[in-house]
Amino acid sequence: MNKTIKTRRSRLCADCRQQTQWHQVSHEFEREGLRVRISGILAMVCSNCGAVSYLAGIPDKLLAAADSLFELMADRHRGALRAEPVPAATA
Ligand SMILES: [Zn+2]
Repeated sequence: MNKTIKTRRSRLCADCRQQTQWHQVSHEFEREGLRVRISGILAMVCSNCGAVSYLAGIPDKLLAAADSLFELMADRHRGALRAEPVPAATA
């Protein structure tokens, strides 16, 4: 479920130089057999080659969020743990 979002101007694809588009994407992390999935991340996606790029600082935040989720899972929350920001309803 990728929604096209019109917001800030997107960059050109680093791989094929096509204009990317803003989408909400999800990212999965796997560690020692455990998986977490973070969805609703705003990212620039190339419609030509599918390359995904994030704004500066976002990958670090995703990694920090994943670290916290893995810690939660290690602490008895085994199974499907998912982080999903819910957008506020727009008027
Ligand atoms: Zn591309």
